[in-house]
Amino acid sequence: MGRQGLLRRCEVCGAYTLSQDKCPKCGGPVRTPHPPKFSPDDRFAKYRLAMKLTSGILKVSDEVREKILKSLLKT
Ligand SMILES: [Zn+2]
Repeated sequence: MGRQGLLRRCEVCGAYTLSQDKCPKCGGPVRTPHPPKFSPDDRFAKYRLAMKLTSGILKVSDEVREKILKSLLKT
């Protein structure tokens, strides 16, 4: 499409804009949006990890497993 290069994203409010210097909404600095390093469903990664732990796919000691599960389920 070629418009991708013009698109900027506000670092402050996260709004997408074609403005090249500052956000029209809040005046914050804008930058070229980069694809996120992690996919959005990575917040489910901890549930997958928890499942691996409880199902025994991941071999750790009981103590370590308890620790990890507790820290995973805290949030
Ligand atoms: Zn903004």
